[in-house]
Amino acid sequence: MLKPIRILYLVLIAFFFVDTAPSFAYSLWTAKCPSGRKWDSDPKMHFSSVSFPDPWHRQPIYDVADRIDQVGGHHWNISGWGMRDSISRNNTYNELWRGSIDDSTGGLAARRGRNCKITRTDIIFSSDQDWAHGWPAYYGMDFWTEGSMVDGQAYIRPTALHELLHMAGLNHTDNQFAMMNYGTRAWANLANQKQMEPLPDDRQGLRALYPSPGGEEDLAVYSTYHDPEQVWEERKVTYQEMLCATTAGTGIAQDPFGGYCAENASLEVCPGDHVYSRFTVANHGLQSITVMEAMWFSEDQVPDVGDEISNTLYVRDITEDYSTARVFEVPALAPGSYHMIVRVVSGALADEDYQNNWIPMRWPVTVKNGC
Ligand SMILES: [Zn+2]
Repeated sequence: MLKPIRILYLVLIAFFFVDTAPSFAYSLWTAKCPSGRKWDSDPKMHFSSVSFPDPWHRQPIYDVADRIDQVGGHHWNISGWGMRDSISRNNTYNELWRGSIDDSTGGLAARRGRNCKITRTDIIFSSDQDWAHGWPAYYGMDFWTEGSMVDGQAYIRPTALHELLHMAGLNHTDNQFAMMNYGTRAWANLANQKQMEPLPDDRQGLRALYPSPGGEEDLAVYSTYHDPEQVWEERKVTYQEMLCATTAGTGIAQDPFGGYCAENASLEVCPGDHVYSRFTVANHGLQSITVMEAMWFSEDQVPDVGDEISNTLYVRDITEDYSTARVFEVPALAPGSYHMIVRVVSGALADEDYQNNWIPMRWPVTVKNGC
């Protein structure tokens, strides 16, 4: 638990940035319908009993659908999704199955519409792919360093979330951090089944299609971002990648996606030295939120009372999301090994549960003897 009063005092001495409001760039399925196409009643999906025989195989789909259900004013009655023995793209059912996809992607959402409504969607997961149905910790992996593959298998959760967002009416985005990108989708610091969930741009798109009266206040910190230099023009989609590893060194490295965030990288430090870091902060809600960013130095990979906090802090208003380079000064620490954890705080969040507000860095630093 943070000490709120201490944080408030720290804000006064911190750096302050004013963010310019980004334009929301989510893309809707707008063919003949400028405001997008959407369902006017809850779509009910049916699993192929051949492709998804085991509850373990269906659970990731239910899990990510539930995360989409939390955003906007629709409810998909997920518990009512059933099973079917025969699956076809030409029948009247919305179906999920494994099959051959005639391109290089892992999943495909085939949609049909009428009168600016979505009337049918089938989702196909490539049968050329071995799928991992768990989450990173299930395979002994850390979510903050994990990409889209484990042991040669593709995590099905990121693909399922992407395809279900297509089903809801979203198209690819080519200039925003979003699940509607290709590449490494971000795992959030949430309970295992919740770790794959819509990002701010996806949420804006869902709310545009399915407005809801309530708001949302939630921040999240991620270790990935989209690479504006990697765009697949034909599919109007950009790629996401893992951000560099936080290290000490002689200055910030220019490539956000290079191995190390510092030039002449080192994992040995003295108090007063600087560590160079990149991370992404996402505002899941609609209102601008003032956040304070700090680097925690901990004996484990969880921020605890008693952990020391960087001498440098950053305060900033955040409207949607940003990915940034930060330099943090190492506080007074006894010699030893410390995990670094980026944590953002804000004093005014009603729904915020702080669970996803921090993310460990890839490797610990060692505070040297005789500094
Ligand atoms: Zn897609």
